[in-house]
Formats: sequence, C-alpha cells, structure tokens
Amino acid sequence: MEGMRTLAGLGEFGLIERVRSRARVRQKSILLGIGDDCAAFRISPGNIGLLTTDTLVERVHFDLRFIGLRDLGWRSLAVNLSDIAAMGGRAIGALVTLGAPRDMEVKKVDLLYAGIFDLGRRFHVDLAGGDTVCAPFLVLSLTVWGEVERKRMATRSGAKLGDLLSVTGELGGAQAGLELLSGKVKSIPGAAAAVKRHCRPMPRLKEAEALGRAGGVNGMIDISDGLASECQHLSKESRVGIEIWEEKIPVLPVTQRVAQSKNLSGTDLALFGGDDYELLFTAPERRTGRLQEALRKLGTRTTVIGEVTSGRPGVVMVTKSGERKNITRAGFDHFRG
Ligand code: ADP
Ligand code: MG
Repeated sequence: MEGMRTLAGLGEFGLIERVRSRARVRQKSILLGIGDDCAAFRISPGNIGLLTTDTLVERVHFDLRFIGLRDLGWRSLAVNLSDIAAMGGRAIGALVTLGAPRDMEVKKVDLLYAGIFDLGRRFHVDLAGGDTVCAPFLVLSLTVWGEVERKRMATRSGAKLGDLLSVTGELGGAQAGLELLSGKVKSIPGAAAAVKRHCRPMPRLKEAEALGRAGGVNGMIDISDGLASECQHLSKESRVGIEIWEEKIPVLPVTQRVAQSKNLSGTDLALFGGDDYELLFTAPERRTGRLQEALRKLGTRTTVIGEVTSGRPGVVMVTKSGERKNITRAGFDHFRG
C-alpha cells in the first residue's frame, strides 16, 4: 500500500472525502454542498438553483488523434449538462474556461466553440462567460448552472429501501467507441453508433424533465464513471444496499463484440467503462411503470436493472449464473488511474 502521503495513495474519492469533511456549509441558502452531482442553493421558495463544473484535460480525458475539436466542444458541455440532468434540472447557462497553447490555430478554437454552441442550442443553454489562459496543453473547464422545482429535485441520497433501480439507454458504449477509435479493436458492425457515444454523448436532460413531470424518482445520479462506481455513490449517499442483476444490464451488441475482442464481457464495460452519461435512478415499484412510459414517449429505452434491498450500504451483483458478487471496484479514479 502506497500510504496516504500522495494523491495516488489517497485516490480521487479519498481526496474528495477529505475536503468534504473539512468544508462546513454554514449558509442556510446552500441546500447541497459536496457529495451530489450539483451543488444546490435556494433561489425562491419553490425553486432551487443548480451549479456544476467539469474539466477535460488533453491526454487525460481526450486525445486529439481520436476526437475532433467540434466534438470535443460538444462533449465538454455534455458532461456538465449530464450533472444538471442527474438532479432533475434544466440547464440555463455556461461559463467556459479555456487553457490553450500559444501555437494553437484560431480556426481550431472556433471549431471547439462551434461544438459548444451546437449542443447549447439544442437545450437552450447560453454561453455567458468564462476565462482564457495560456496552458502547455488543451484544458477545457466548464461551469454550468440551472434550476429545478424544489419538489422535483432528485439527489444521490434519496434512494429508499424497496425502490427499483432503473437506467436509461445502454451502457458501456462510449468505452467501446473509444476502443474502436483508438484502433485497439478493428472496426465492426455498429461501430459508428459506439463512436458517436464517445464523441457526442447526448445528455439526458429531456429524460430528466419527463421523469420530474411523471414524479416518483427518489434517488438519481448520472453514469459518468461506470455503473459500479455510480451504484457505490448512490448506496453510500442514501445509506442503502443495492443489488443489480447482470442479465438485465442493457449492453449493445457492438459493445459485446468490442468487449469479447479484449477478453472482457459487455458487463465489464458497463460496470467499469466511462463516459456513458445515462441516468441511473430509483423509484418505488408502483411508480416505475409510469416513469418508463414517460421515457418511452421520448423514444428512450429504460431498463430495470436492480433493486434497493437493504438498509446497509453495499453493492452486490447477481451474475448470469446466479452467483452473488460484491461490486467494490470503482470506475475511473483520477489519481489511481
Ligand atoms: P461528477 O462525476 O458527478 O462530476 P464528482 O465525482 O466529480 O461528481 O464529484 C463529487 C462531488 O465532489 C461533487 O459534489 C463535487 O462538487 C465535489 N468535488 C469534486 N472535486 C472537488 C474538489 N476538488 N473540491 C471540492 N469539492 C469537490
Ligand atoms: Mg455526475
């Protein structure tokens, strides 16, 4: 064990916990501090403001050999919008901090912003400011704010015993897309769909709105670091035990094939692959049908993949062969790699 002297030893989530334990929220208007997909603050008796930030760093989050600048711009906004969706909110505006090398071509920066505007237009999110600095490689840090009606806000801490656990779309596809793009796996049928998931993820804001309207969601989080990691967060913040059923986890055929060619299963990519940006939510069984129906009207598939089974935190997967496996391995950790 490396010990806790360096960030590699502490890990990304260890570091966040450490900061969290020292950050006391004293102002009553701040409803949620560290620990959820967004910070939340009171803006009026019935409405809550949402605030989130996410950063993409060249060579850590993207490789310009595999993603175009227009897609990168899109993606930098998409990852932030996904956190607003995870709270059940609607996004309003964005601030963009750009760190770029001196010799970066202006037309490339134009492309980056074109991608940000492409997605912004789609969800009525306006660029309202930012900051510009010189950096040794490309860094894109976005801050997005939005709002949600108080009674519609969904949190990581809201999951209740007996709830069913549902997920939108399919999992593992973005990771499969990256494997295809980086040429680690040769192209196969369905490749374009997987690549698109990596390059132009679609934040589930419409779905979040529909879920809020239908009502009944208790706990929610977006899947940015893989199903395993996000189930852990839900479990820990809600102080409940979660059981997931491997045979129900929705994985596209292309993802299965990419996984197989790497001697993995589709489940591995769903559990530990990053960047899917689907919504994972819990709701009582009697509300789940209506929620599924509301998403189906948007053309979005929803799958029940598990259940909140106990009052003791922990995540268990029932495998296809009926074994129970503890799911402890987290998704991507920035410092542990
Ligand atoms: P997400 O993957 O949804 O963006 P993160 O795992 O990045 O969420 O963050 C989890 C929580 O920790 C959030 O509430 C976030 O605001 C907070 N957080 C992350 N990094 C820091 C930091 N360096 N200082 C303070 N809070 C942080
Ligand atoms: Mg999130």
